[in-house]
Amino acid sequence: MTTPQVTEPPVIAHGGGVWSVKVPIPDNPLGCTLVHLLDTDDGPVLIDTGWDDPASWSTLTAGLGLCGVAVEDVRGVVITHHHPDHHGLSARVREASGAWIAMHEADASVVRRTRANPPERWYGYLAAKLTAAGAPAEHVAPLLGARDASRLPGLDPALPDRGIAPGELLDLPGRRLRAVWTPGHTPGHVCLHLEEAHPAGLRGTGRLFSGDHLLPGITPHIGLYEDPDDDTVTDPLGDYLDSLERVGRLDPAEVLPAHQHAFTDAPARVRELLAHHEERLTGLLALLCEPLTPWDLAARMEWNRPWAEIPYGSRTIAVSEAEAHVRRLVKLGRAEAVAGSDPVTYVAV
Ligand SMILES: [Zn+2]
Ligand SMILES: [Zn+2]
Repeated sequence: MTTPQVTEPPVIAHGGGVWSVKVPIPDNPLGCTLVHLLDTDDGPVLIDTGWDDPASWSTLTAGLGLCGVAVEDVRGVVITHHHPDHHGLSARVREASGAWIAMHEADASVVRRTRANPPERWYGYLAAKLTAAGAPAEHVAPLLGARDASRLPGLDPALPDRGIAPGELLDLPGRRLRAVWTPGHTPGHVCLHLEEAHPAGLRGTGRLFSGDHLLPGITPHIGLYEDPDDDTVTDPLGDYLDSLERVGRLDPAEVLPAHQHAFTDAPARVRELLAHHEERLTGLLALLCEPLTPWDLAARMEWNRPWAEIPYGSRTIAVSEAEAHVRRLVKLGRAEAVAGSDPVTYVAV
């Protein structure tokens, strides 16, 4: 391909029939999703698609054009996880090309649930969960008021046509792309391991499309797997830490994440993230010398800015993250719920 003459090239050629297109996410500090394009003997295949927005769509199609691919020719879409910055444009790509969409069953079931439940059910569910986590009434009230809000982004995601079986090679003629199930960020997150020699001869085993699981400079959000129809007490942080070790052991020559930039030495990044979460859990245990609700805990935890300056939506995410950490501590036998507390408080043991 030729290098486009623009200040911020939306396309990166990684060699060996792999490109990435930087697809913008509107009004989001993450900036963009790196949609990966993989050449196969059967035609081009995308890994993720980007946010459902007109500007994102035109960047995607223009970027593919720079790689010599018309969106109409895309044969398939492999989705790392169901979030709207990854799966948002899948329906539009399928409409334009007839491409199949593949996703792990655990995330496909999130998609089915999202489509089946009206927005007010989600608001009601979220309001109940926040109340149970100790959120003050003024934080919960806007959710109750917004129940009849019109369509939110990401509430009408495309139903996938195919599953992704963990550990198996995907059916991509001429390529060796293996699915690695990496639950944690979402229950059905997958990384895709391209088991082919690195085109520049870098040391290691192939290349890893890591989605949001392994990113060079940020830690992905690990909250709860939200499901209004299921009371199972899951342990997303425990899942995530196990999944980190799994990809570290693959020792890929290069990681191609869905945000930021490509990087090498995955095992070192995995060690950093494991240490970060260990430190965080230790910090939380110290806070739990007195009984705290997940809300109290979130307000006392260290974030990228003081709690008072954290905007409304991010507080909701922070509480979910605090709760995921508490669940981990409970599972490890290092904290427990105080019997009879309502909203429930937790204390170190
Ligand atoms: Zn995500
Ligand atoms: Zn993402």
